[in-house]
Amino acid sequence: PRLYQQRYNFVVSYVDQYKPKKVADLGCSNCSLLRRLKFCDCIEELVGLDIDQRLLTDKKESLKPLLISYLEPKKTRLTVSLYHGSVTEKDPALIGFDLITCIELIEHLETHDLDKFQDTLFGFMAPHTVLVSTPNSEFNVLLPNLTGFRHLDHKFEWTREEFQNWATNIAQCYNYSVEFSGVGEPPANAKDVGFCSQIGIFTRNYTESEESLKEKREYKHIYKKVLNVVY
Ligand code: SAM
Repeated sequence: PRLYQQRYNFVVSYVDQYKPKKVADLGCSNCSLLRRLKFCDCIEELVGLDIDQRLLTDKKESLKPLLISYLEPKKTRLTVSLYHGSVTEKDPALIGFDLITCIELIEHLETHDLDKFQDTLFGFMAPHTVLVSTPNSEFNVLLPNLTGFRHLDHKFEWTREEFQNWATNIAQCYNYSVEFSGVGEPPANAKDVGFCSQIGIFTRNYTESEESLKEKREYKHIYKKVLNVVY
């Protein structure tokens, strides 16, 4: 499979194993991952957030129920919502989630936005699990004709050490545990460069109190709803 599919496969395997009910994808772009997650029976609420409103508007039709969904209804009710907004902003629409994925998102954020994002994600949204994927710059020597970053819009690409330092620091700060994995195996003669995409798996070490959730639910809604469908 292509690299992006391997990243989605990683998320879907995680979902199959741990059965989260409420799942959100930050920086959902063309909604490809959401379209796959729609078929995971354990999921009851699926949310996508992106800053690119046009992309969301263009792709929202693809998340609406297909004829087959009426012929073969899901065992559990599923709500799918898309929001236009920034991952740096706190909105109650994203609290109380079991799993939040950030696939190839962080490297698109400027330093000051990355700071706000991590506080929003781990401090405010505070889901049970977070999956973060980002390029491993050590792998770049294997990519032909690459000068600079893998994508023009990347603000940085980190080595494994840089990513692991960032992630470990966050885990400590926000009381999460973190483990590392990745997708895109290097060839046998270059094993030491690591995976093409590195992935951090963060798990919250505490249970959030009802009081704290209640307080967050009172925050002002700032994301704009682009789609809300019930299956
Ligand atoms: N996650 C998708 C995937 O793996 O196929 C797409 C990743 S794409 C490289 C990065 C996405 O992040 C883009 O769709 C972009 O609009 C979105 N993005 C960038 N900055 C953002 C922000 N501050 N808030 C929300 N989305 C953002």
